[in-house]
Amino acid sequence: MDNNLTGRTALVTGAASGIGKAIALLYVRHGANVIVSDVDEAQGQQVVEEIRAAGANAQFVKADVGDPAQCQQLVRETVSAFGQLDIACNNAGIGGELNTTADYSLEGWQKIININLNSVFYCLKYELEAMMKQNTGGSIINMASILGQAGTANSPGYVAAKHGVVGLTKTAAIEYATKGIRINSVGPAYIDTPLLSALPDEARKMLIDLHPIGRLGRPEEVAELVVWLSSEKASFVTGAYYPVDGGYLAR
Ligand code: NAD
Repeated sequence: MDNNLTGRTALVTGAASGIGKAIALLYVRHGANVIVSDVDEAQGQQVVEEIRAAGANAQFVKADVGDPAQCQQLVRETVSAFGQLDIACNNAGIGGELNTTADYSLEGWQKIININLNSVFYCLKYELEAMMKQNTGGSIINMASILGQAGTANSPGYVAAKHGVVGLTKTAAIEYATKGIRINSVGPAYIDTPLLSALPDEARKMLIDLHPIGRLGRPEEVAELVVWLSSEKASFVTGAYYPVDGGYLAR
């Protein structure tokens, strides 16, 4: 156990599953109080129970991050639950439609941009407002992807949204750098989570072959990077994009 986040309050969106769940669990191991947020209430409550069973503090707040009013309410409830907001990981996201650009549906485009990009702006806006009011600094990590740096066929919406997350992160980081609020983005390659569980074996093998390290990543390996970025150990790091990708982008 490393106590470097003791007394801090951390908010994680999309924390009912996969990478977000691993981040929430690692935050509490480092001493933070955690708000577990998700649209999936049943799974989110299970994560909270797991955390409480380990003797740590967590609370579930249901929020659809595609709705700005719910993002605003989520930040309000976080502050009222634990008195402050020090760390936020804007992680919730979906895979979205798989189609070439000309065939991509308008509804599919609007949905992925809303859930994977607009949501990050909404959360960031209200988190920054709360952190500025507190005036005690903070750390925000936005979940991008290797597809925030590279393209891939059949995912124009996802790729555009994740590139947008990286650009938004840089801009906000510059704006708040002198206020003690650090904002970074993280770019996982393919991580073994429910997001990928629907893939047939052959597609899975093709994905593995994209990683020089020879396997998919684990949610806990992303969480380690996020927790480091959240802590004072990363005190001179802001506006950065950090891959956690088994060498994917090195090719
Ligand atoms: P996951 O499906 O296991 O978890 C995503 C969580 O987000 C789920 O609990 C889901 O209920 C929640 N969610 C979905 N839409 C939401 C909404 N509108 N409001 C609130 N919560 C919502 O997926 P994951 O793999 O853990 O993905 C987490 C993040 O990591 C996403 O942003 C994803 O794009 C990114 N990412 C994943 C991979 C990967 O290979 N798994 C790679 C790179 C980036």
